[in-house]
Order: sequence, then C-alpha cells, then structure tokens
Amino acid sequence: MAMADMRPPIESGCPDGFQYMHPTMRRNFGLWKYHEDPKPGVLRHVAESGEEIFTVKVGTQRILDIFSLRELTSIGDEFADGYIRFTIRSNIEYYVTDESKVDPLIEAVEKLGYVVGGTKNSVTSLSHTQGWLHCDIPGTDASGVVKSMMDELIGEFKAWNMPNRVHITTSCCQINCGGQGDIAINVQHTKPPKIDHSQVANVCERPSVVARCPVAAIRPAMVDGMPSLEVDEKKCICCGACFPPCPPMMINDAEHSKLAVWVGGNHSNARGKPTFQKLVASAIPNNPPRWPEAAAIVKLILKCYKEDARDWERVGEWVERIGWPRFFELTGLPFTKYHIDNWRGARASLNASTHIRF
Ligand code: SF4
Ligand code: SF4
Repeated sequence: MAMADMRPPIESGCPDGFQYMHPTMRRNFGLWKYHEDPKPGVLRHVAESGEEIFTVKVGTQRILDIFSLRELTSIGDEFADGYIRFTIRSNIEYYVTDESKVDPLIEAVEKLGYVVGGTKNSVTSLSHTQGWLHCDIPGTDASGVVKSMMDELIGEFKAWNMPNRVHITTSCCQINCGGQGDIAINVQHTKPPKIDHSQVANVCERPSVVARCPVAAIRPAMVDGMPSLEVDEKKCICCGACFPPCPPMMINDAEHSKLAVWVGGNHSNARGKPTFQKLVASAIPNNPPRWPEAAAIVKLILKCYKEDARDWERVGEWVERIGWPRFFELTGLPFTKYHIDNWRGARASLNASTHIRF
C-alpha cells in the first residue's frame, strides 16, 4: 500500500486538559502563591498575580443519569462561568472567580439534594470501581457499596472532623482496582473456582489461564474426553485471577464471595514510603442493598481513628504508631488466623516503594 493511501491514526488518547481549564487557572498555571480553606467543601487559591479562584466541591450519587448531569452543569453555567471538573472520586468541582457567587452556588446544589464537602480533614467520597457497568470480572456491585456507605458517612463528608483526610476505596473483584485507601472494602472470594468443563475448550486459552495463576494451582486436564483444566484446591488462594481469561472458571458466588476491610494503604510518597493496606476484617457478608455489616465496621474504625489519632495522622500512620495489637484492642475486631499473611511469594513480587524493579 502506498503511503498516501494509508489511513491516518485516530488519536483516541487523553485530550489536552488545558483547553478545558478555567481561564484564570490557565493564566496562573504554576504561579499560585497559596491556598486556604474558607469552609468545608470550598478552597480559595490566590495567585502571584493577585487573581483568585474558589473551588466548590460537591458529592454526587456517583452513577449519574443525564437529567442529573444537566442539572449540575446548568448550575455550572449559572454560577461558575461554565467550568466544572469531575474528580477521580466522582465529586464535581465548580470554579468560581467571583466570591459573591460561592454561597448562591452552594445553595443551588444543596437545594437539589447534593452535598458540599470532601475537602481537608473530611472523609471524601469513596473511590469507585463500577465493575458492573464496564468490567468483565466483578464479584459484587461496588457502586452500591459506595452509595450506601456514603449515605452513612454524609456527616463526615460535610465536616472537618477527622484527624486528617480519609480516602476510602472499594473493589468489585479481588485482584485489580480499588485497593490502597486509608480504608478499603474489597471483595474476598473464599472458595476455589467451580469449572464448567463443557465450556473451557471453546472459551479459554488454556496456556494463558495456567500461566495466570500466581500459585501454579491450575493444570491442563482431559475431562469427559475434552480438553479442560483442573485446580489444585489445596494450593488455590481464591484470588479470582483465572476468571477473567476463562469465564467458565466461576468464582463469583452469592454466599462465598464476601467482603473484607483493609486499612492503612497509601499510594503517595509525600511524607513516607507508599504503604500496603492490611486486612483487618474478613468474611463480611456481601449483603445488598445496604451492606450494613461492612458499613458498621468502617464506621467503627473511623470512630476509633477520630478519638485516638493525633492531628494530621493518616489512618495508616495512626496504626503504625499505636501498633496493630492496640488497633485490634481499640476496635474490638477479632484477630484470626486469616489476618496472617503467609503467602511465600509476597516478599519477592510485591513492590513496597515507587522504585521500579527489573
Ligand atoms: S475492581 Fe475488578 S471487577 Fe471492579 S472494575 Fe476493577 S478490575 Fe473490574
Ligand atoms: S483463583 Fe487464583 S489461585 Fe485459585 S486457581 Fe484461580 S488463579 Fe489460581
């Protein structure tokens, strides 16, 4: 094919964010002098040039229908010069240069039932792995967990009550997104996968599935004269990694796919190394539509953190200072054999810093 006939590539990557920024932010990019927090949910940034901009952060119900989006964006048109941004935690942020518009904007969003907050030492919105909308491996409806949990914690979103900011994360499978929050609510499979042997030969690339298992528990096998797979259940750690490449290895289960709560994760290395979260409560019933058992445990941990941590300690720093035995004493959560990380491979394969190993 001659070069002239070749189709140009379709640029489908992330667009340049500058074109969407409020002009005040564009003009003062990298030239901010300081910022302050006039009240919960509101930030004021002041630039070297003397220009200032207010950010109003609003919690949403996370999965937004077109009507709610229209309502929220028309408020942006009326009070925020048409400039909004969605944060990674599905909050919406409005940018306002005229201070006199901040309170009317807050009034307008609250009138529609939205909440303003999520800044400074609050519990901001839970991060969201909405697997049932877009992903192929969820074990539960993380969006529902997030919504019901945020309903319970709405007071903590709107106030500055916590020793430091609290990031809560969820995951709807056991292996991918959603970890490393101050508190994380993750799926926990407790039984090895059940294999539908009639489907394996049609659907799965058996060598990839065998290679995918972190503990080498999967072997090729012939079942009823057909090529299939078998799982050594003594080795299986019920991670669910075999399910995405091989859906006949069913691991999701209404009764045996549970939730677990993990504590103390941190991606950032601003004040110390990034940290892994640790399991503090396991086998919590996956109990829709309000997940009361998981919500009670998260609220209990937050209560103890609020009462016992020093100012500006993150959850992980608090637990490191008081020690894990004291954490279990304070919260009253049972410490069981399932809390002991005895996986031999962890030391060699898990990164404990931002350095890349080759
Ligand atoms: S947590 Fe798992 S199931 Fe949920 S969106 Fe992420 S990869 Fe998909
Ligand atoms: S669930 Fe995980 S450990 Fe068990 S067989 Fe599948 S990949 Fe291997």
